[in-house]
Amino acid sequence: MQQLTDRLFDFIGSSPTAFHGVRSAGKRLEAAGYTRLAEASAWELKKGGKYYTTRNNSSLIAFRLPEEMPAGFMLAATHCDSPTFKIKENAQYADAHYTKLSTEGYGGMIMSTWMDRPLSIAGRVIVSAGTGFETRLVDFGEPCVMIPNLAIHMNRSANDGQKYNPAVDMVPVYSLNEGLSVHERAAELAGVPADRILASDLFLYNTDRGIRWGDYISAPRLDNLECTFACLEGFLAASASASVPVFAVFDNEEVGSLTRQGADSTFLADVMDRIAEQYGADAEKKHQLYAASTMLSCDNAHAVHPNHGDIRDVNHSVYMNEGIVVKYNATQRYATDGISAALFRLVCEEAGVPFQRYANRPDMRGGGTLGNISEAHVSVNTADIGLPQLAMHSAFETAGLKDTEYLIKATGVFFSKAVHTHADGSCELV
Ligand code: ZN
Repeated sequence: MQQLTDRLFDFIGSSPTAFHGVRSAGKRLEAAGYTRLAEASAWELKKGGKYYTTRNNSSLIAFRLPEEMPAGFMLAATHCDSPTFKIKENAQYADAHYTKLSTEGYGGMIMSTWMDRPLSIAGRVIVSAGTGFETRLVDFGEPCVMIPNLAIHMNRSANDGQKYNPAVDMVPVYSLNEGLSVHERAAELAGVPADRILASDLFLYNTDRGIRWGDYISAPRLDNLECTFACLEGFLAASASASVPVFAVFDNEEVGSLTRQGADSTFLADVMDRIAEQYGADAEKKHQLYAASTMLSCDNAHAVHPNHGDIRDVNHSVYMNEGIVVKYNATQRYATDGISAALFRLVCEEAGVPFQRYANRPDMRGGGTLGNISEAHVSVNTADIGLPQLAMHSAFETAGLKDTEYLIKATGVFFSKAVHTHADGSCELV
């Protein structure tokens, strides 16, 4: 267990941004024999082959091909972006005493948790190369940013419910040894002179490493790198089946998914089409394949808070270390329904892992995720699942020690299966 938790923390530590998350997943896949494909090149796939492709270097789809025409696709989708602050193009400004960063919020973070903790900078720089450009990932790796609170002596109402104005309260102070600017340091890390940087996408991140404390783990970006890590491990551990197992990790879930590489793009549909066409599937065959496919949309879930036990549906409460969460919502903001829940239940039972059922309190809206967004492009039977955690969208989140392994086991079984559909609503899982 300790070893698995350390590997999860390594994965989180090497994934400060979605770009780095995709690179971490890509490295893990390549170590397991997967070949990277470029979307812009012709694909000549071998039966029995193992592949992955990326879009924008911030979303990734990996798959394995069976020898014969597949029965369908077994998909698990996660996201690898997290709420943070993005550094604006004109990165910094200074007065006589302080250098500050121009930032914008990315996603819905709990602002107070970003204060008074050492932060660093990571992302990508686009550097000129010949008549074009190249992308280089950079990670400052060391603390160089702080968003300081106002002392309580100057803000006596600090503990009476605080409103944070991002243009005033959340402006970060930047300081790096040797006085290097953000772009100078980024250029140094990219191994190019600063004047070769054409543009950048840089973000703040919490440098803390994850910690285990008793039955719990706490770390930055558990939403949703915990699910990403677990699904990837389950994907790699699964045995061969008659289906195409597909592991997809998307960027931009925290800002609505509607980007070229988000879950609300054609990325997944494009990859599934290209795979089906490698087997010579015509339009009729593709319809059959997609109708026999199943997706797990995996994103962390809200465990009952120890101090706010009333903020829950009394009959659908979930707890850390008590199993994978299956999420339900009558208005289908979670894609789970009777069919997908039944299928996932069979998977959990075979894997021997516990699961628990979550629904929002009827007077609370709750959050959305990527399952029903992806459905608009690839309409397959989908269950929304996740791992229970506290303090979602804090800079430092908490989850259960045991749950990561449960999801690895369940996805390991899921990816080893194929669905044979007999009629609408009836199938066999083999
Ligand atoms: Zn999430």
